[in-house]
Amino acid sequence: MAAAGLWHRVGRLPEMAPALGRWPRAYSTPPAFAEVLRLPPKQLTKVCFIGRSNVGKSSLIKALFSQAPDVEVRISKKPGHTKKMNFFKVGKYFTLVDMPGYGYRAPEDFVDMVEAYLKERKNLKRTFLLVDSVVGITEVDNIAIEMCEEFALPYVMILTKIDKSSKGYLFKQVLQIQKFVNTQTQGCFPQLFPVSAVTYFGIHLLKCFIADITGSLK
Ligand code: GDP
Repeated sequence: MAAAGLWHRVGRLPEMAPALGRWPRAYSTPPAFAEVLRLPPKQLTKVCFIGRSNVGKSSLIKALFSQAPDVEVRISKKPGHTKKMNFFKVGKYFTLVDMPGYGYRAPEDFVDMVEAYLKERKNLKRTFLLVDSVVGITEVDNIAIEMCEEFALPYVMILTKIDKSSKGYLFKQVLQIQKFVNTQTQGCFPQLFPVSAVTYFGIHLLKCFIADITGSLK
């Protein structure tokens, strides 16, 4: 009732103004504020996940999100050349970009599409390159690594499916990949992230790392 009365009075303000002895001021937006309104909406920080087909990328993304049920994850619209990528908007914090898998079953335009995206890298904070811990760094992984190096992207290596090997084999693989990172790469973060989407090993640490680099730990 009170609200209806208020709206009624607001609607009548111009009529009342002459009676009050002055015309209503023409309200204009201050120039600085108008400038802000013209700016494109603030883009969220992005992290992207890249890896060859079957490396365990979808399983890992699912595991990451299943451990954060309170965060709303939305798949957002895909403009232009990014149609084959999935964009997961994670609350108001960041966007996780899921690149199509490379190698076997990769889309024909994979290289053009991914190269274009990574080169442009608007707000791309970090690239996560997934390597199958059982298989190690393959030839196609090497091409992706070279691409990250060439574009000077800061990237992080995730070792997937660590539950599949014995401790001894896994240790050997980790040491070998660590040696590769230390000696053959410039832009790769020195710490590896071994994970399992089955046992959830390493998922919490990876989540904390992503929260930290995206500035979501406030
Ligand atoms: P993508 O093609 O990279 O998205 O790979 P998927 O997530 O679809 O996984 C490919 C296969 O590996 C599937 O059969 C998964 O069940 C299996 N897989 C994925 N992650 C793991 C893991 O951490 N441990 C085990 N044992 N299998 C996994």
